[in-house]
Amino acid sequence: MDNRGNQPASSLAAPLTVLKGVGPALAKTLERLDLFRVEDVLFLLPFRYEDRTKLNRIGSVRPGMRCLVSGEVLLAETVYRGRRNLLVRIGDGSGQMTLRFFHFSRQQLLQFQAGLTVTCFGDVRAGPLGPEMVHPEYRILREGQRPTVTDALTPVYPMTEGIQQGRMRNLVAQALSIMRREAPAELLPSTILEKLQLPKLSEALSYLHTPPPDVDLASIEAGKHPCQVRLAFEELLAHYMSLRNLRHLANQEAAVALGDNSGLPQRFIDSLPYQLTSAQQRVVAEIAADLKEPHPMMRLIQGDVGSGKTVVAATACAQAVSSGVQAAVMAPTELLAEQHWTSFADWFREFDVELAWLSGSQKQSERRASLEAIQTGKAKIIIGTHALFQEGVDFDNLALVVIDEQHRFGVHQRVALRNKGVGGSGHPHQLVMTATPIPRTLAMAAYADLDTSVIDELPPGRRPVTTIALPDTRRSEVIERVRQACSRGQQAYWVCPLIDESEVLDYQAAEVSYEMLTQALGDLRVGLVHGRMKHPAKDKVMRAFKNGSVDVLVATTVIEVGVDVPNASLMIIENAERMGLSQLHQLRGRVGRGAEQSHCVMLYKQPLGQLARNRLAVLRETNDGFVVAQRDLELRGPGELLGTKQTGLPEYRIANLVRDAALMPTVQQSAETIHLHYPDAARTIIRRWLGDAHQYGKV
Ligand code: ADP
Ligand code: MG
Repeated sequence: MDNRGNQPASSLAAPLTVLKGVGPALAKTLERLDLFRVEDVLFLLPFRYEDRTKLNRIGSVRPGMRCLVSGEVLLAETVYRGRRNLLVRIGDGSGQMTLRFFHFSRQQLLQFQAGLTVTCFGDVRAGPLGPEMVHPEYRILREGQRPTVTDALTPVYPMTEGIQQGRMRNLVAQALSIMRREAPAELLPSTILEKLQLPKLSEALSYLHTPPPDVDLASIEAGKHPCQVRLAFEELLAHYMSLRNLRHLANQEAAVALGDNSGLPQRFIDSLPYQLTSAQQRVVAEIAADLKEPHPMMRLIQGDVGSGKTVVAATACAQAVSSGVQAAVMAPTELLAEQHWTSFADWFREFDVELAWLSGSQKQSERRASLEAIQTGKAKIIIGTHALFQEGVDFDNLALVVIDEQHRFGVHQRVALRNKGVGGSGHPHQLVMTATPIPRTLAMAAYADLDTSVIDELPPGRRPVTTIALPDTRRSEVIERVRQACSRGQQAYWVCPLIDESEVLDYQAAEVSYEMLTQALGDLRVGLVHGRMKHPAKDKVMRAFKNGSVDVLVATTVIEVGVDVPNASLMIIENAERMGLSQLHQLRGRVGRGAEQSHCVMLYKQPLGQLARNRLAVLRETNDGFVVAQRDLELRGPGELLGTKQTGLPEYRIANLVRDAALMPTVQQSAETIHLHYPDAARTIIRRWLGDAHQYGKV
């Protein structure tokens, strides 16, 4: 549907059906490529170019070239090479070449008459008789006709079903000619363009669709050509400004200002068995200041695994309780929610703060009791899973929402959540925590609607985890190592492969390992947790592991996030080659929390692919979550790291968050300038790149 705003007078903004050859059916096909208006076609950039600007001498072509040649037909014959082939020999005086066709009509065969001139374009490969082209594009010239060359390189567009290259080129050519009559609005202030030394929009578009023969193709392939940078910059700017709009909107919304009335946060901090690290103290102060404002806080805490985010969140909750309102803490899994429940219960017991628990698998009677405590306001801190924000949960006075491990929640969910629990007193403050730190420039792009705090320090006494990768043929040595460690009183995790998306297989793999280890480790106590286990059973095993009455915990990746058992010092990960970098880092983060030197063993199945080899190497080399994240970004791209599909972070059309990350600081500055001085341009830029339907503020 075309919902990109009002129908402006400009024909660049007209629907595609104004172009010759576009009827309703083709328009539908184009919609699948996200093309609605004439202008949109201009932003569909070629992904490569073909050079038909010059004829190559046949004697000079080499295998691997993709080029245009012209020659006289010397011979055309069919031969059998398992199947029938049509071979056409051509020559131009400098050399000879063969055109080879596997599929051809009788008419084609007759067409190639000796003495005629043929022009062809295609990939040159080494054939049995010298250079050849298989199924080239070709044209037989009429008497006296000269081969045609083009002035510009020929663009090749991303293909979609139902539309041919030739058609796409034609549509772009029509759009370009409209653009030459009437340039698209130049929305970037000239001060910015001059500072960055970037071309104007229409110049950039025209250049990229029809680059001259002397273009620096290498820079285009690397995505670094100023014309590409010009477009990527504007796109990044559009996304950034759209997210910032959310932030500005929030600043206009009301929230309860959480003055600290009873001094609970400080008393809470004083009651802890350790001192907060200076990074924790800094972040606690940043949050405390936000919460005192009458507008909703929107803050992200980034901190590596084990940096102590939970206690920081608890301090924020204490501030809410201190003001007599409710705080909710949401975790992505039951296991993690339960762990928070245990920690919070310990921490707040002496302060007589009432907690409530809410999860999907709760008994009806329990749930009713929780709901009532939540509704009457008796419960001050509510802990749970997504169940917290389902229908039928009525808060009395919710003023703070804490979301743990937020890499699973995207901007759309953040927006949706902010509108939940909106009561008479305004929007709740929002604190999101992530253990998948992302590089600063990427965070600027992905979390522009949030303020960020970084806990860049681990509690004292932590020793980096030693990490090794071994083929799983050495599993028995590893088991022996587990036995030795556990008989010295240490504990171990044994994490089982994610066989596929299926939970069933996942759980079977864990069962198999559990049997195997129980047998192999005879005298040691082995426990098993997996996603399909019933709640009380899982709880029992986790507790047993926490209090030391289970030595080895066999688990599926349900323990990936958040689980905290300081005495565990050994982490074995099976089928590590199938896991992503960040996931492996998360798993490894389960150990290295106590005083013992910890080890992580990544078992892999041979043969190991190159990408998997690189991943495992990264983990062997560093324990730093920020470095791991940066490498993950380079290896997999931002979509994977941020979980684009889950997070709803839109795909970029031209920009690439890895390649263009260095632009972000300038994007940020320019956004401020435009927001202040050219608010109308801001709106138009956002609409140009995101359309009305996709603006974050409107989700
Ligand atoms: P994460 O940031 O991964 O969520 P947690 O909040 O689970 O980390 O904290 C990891 C462990 O570190 C917990 O056992 C916690 O009690 C402990 N911890 C947190 N802060 C400190 C500190 N300042 N000094 C010592 N231990 C701390
Ligand atoms: Mg945590």
